[in-house]
Amino acid sequence: MNRFFDRLATEGLELRRARAEILQVNVGKLCNLTCMHCHVNAGPKRKEIMTRETIDRVIDWLAKTKIPIVDLTGGAPEMIPDFRYFIERVRMLQPRRKVIDRCNLTILLERGYEGLAEFLAAKKVEIIASMPCYSPENVNAQRGEGVFDGSITALRRLNRLGYGVAGDLPLHLIYNPVGPFLPAPQAELEADYKRELATHFGIVFNKLYTITNLPIARFAAFLRRNNKLDEYMELLMNAFNPATIEGLMCRNTISVGWRGEIYDCDFNQQLDMQWSRNGGSHSLFLWDVDPDEIDNREIMTGDHCFGCTAGAGSSCGGALV
Ligand code: SF4
Ligand code: SF4
Repeated sequence: MNRFFDRLATEGLELRRARAEILQVNVGKLCNLTCMHCHVNAGPKRKEIMTRETIDRVIDWLAKTKIPIVDLTGGAPEMIPDFRYFIERVRMLQPRRKVIDRCNLTILLERGYEGLAEFLAAKKVEIIASMPCYSPENVNAQRGEGVFDGSITALRRLNRLGYGVAGDLPLHLIYNPVGPFLPAPQAELEADYKRELATHFGIVFNKLYTITNLPIARFAAFLRRNNKLDEYMELLMNAFNPATIEGLMCRNTISVGWRGEIYDCDFNQQLDMQWSRNGGSHSLFLWDVDPDEIDNREIMTGDHCFGCTAGAGSSCGGALV
């Protein structure tokens, strides 16, 4: 049963792809953290990482398109051995593409990653960093002991390199709720973050994006353990906002997995909702798909999609309305 699909039908809405503007590549599930809300179930013991051969195939496909943005996510994308190679190859493409690194901040301080922040700055990579609160208690509860202090140290280092200060080095932060509730209004939270981080730590950044936790993977397990899954689903469904549909990220983002599989979004990726042909018998990889045949494709949905359409909506670029 897909209650989201039914809800769209009731509203007389359809969810189809528009022009692809972002290639979001999830390069693997390896991460130095094990956050409570993680929809990827990422962690230090995960073995799934994108190989150089797959990176080459992704880049070759991208080179045939004009998709302007490459968005690297994970896990901690920086932990794959060929992370820098990936960025160097994107940088060689014409026309030039914007590159985003979804960074958990603490990775910038880990042994073995010295010079990583400097590399990102030199390559003009935009950083979108997770920072679920401006207070230590909430950050450590969600992401682990010591993560708050590490995040502050990393943000200061990024500021020193010009991130969040210079126009060509954007630094955006991501807020997601620490429990089963919707984010507060994005503009208000951004103002709070800017005030608190500047006052107490001298940190500046560009924008704050609020993201709703989707009831899948580790967050779904957390809800189930606390007997809150049904209640949370109810909250999301009751907050359905049809005005969010047009801006949903699955409309302009192509999601690619560590083996090159293709999906409508990173959430569908974690739920194995891979694109296919011939009634599901032939699973598709990025290089199986003609870039010109993606527009207007029907998007695969499920109950989890209510997480993107609740309230002000949610996407990798924050609230939608
Ligand atoms: S939420 Fe991000 S930082 Fe935390 S475990 Fe998942 S991938 Fe790693
Ligand atoms: S989870 Fe969100 S982004 Fe993904 S297909 Fe559903 S509505 Fe679209």
